[in-house]
Amino acid sequence: MATISITMPDGRTWTPQFVQEISQEKCIGCGRCFKVCGRDVLQLAGITDEGEFVPLEAGDDDDDEEYEKKVMTIANQMNCVGCEACAKICPKKCYTHTPMENP
Ligand code: SF4
Ligand code: SF4
Repeated sequence: MATISITMPDGRTWTPQFVQEISQEKCIGCGRCFKVCGRDVLQLAGITDEGEFVPLEAGDDDDDEEYEKKVMTIANQMNCVGCEACAKICPKKCYTHTPMENP
């Protein structure tokens, strides 16, 4: 099955790579990916010692100890346009992206 690709104005083909997963083990919660995503896909969250997510605002200086560490999460996956800006700026190589199959 063919993947979705786009023909750019100069005739070249571009295949969008859509966000699939963020490694919670590698992520340091730096927020860089959040800043470059213009599609409201990502959400910073805290993980509690029981593995539950606590949504946080980006730039939140919340110092209370409700959670073990901050990680980025995918809150609105269907908003993603596959630009890969998040993966390019991530210093820890947390991202997995895949092309989308044509229905
Ligand atoms: S690929 Fe682009 S649109 Fe999708 S989450 Fe990353 S920065 Fe946002
Ligand atoms: S840029 Fe990478 S390490 Fe930083 S919050 Fe995003 S996924 Fe985590």
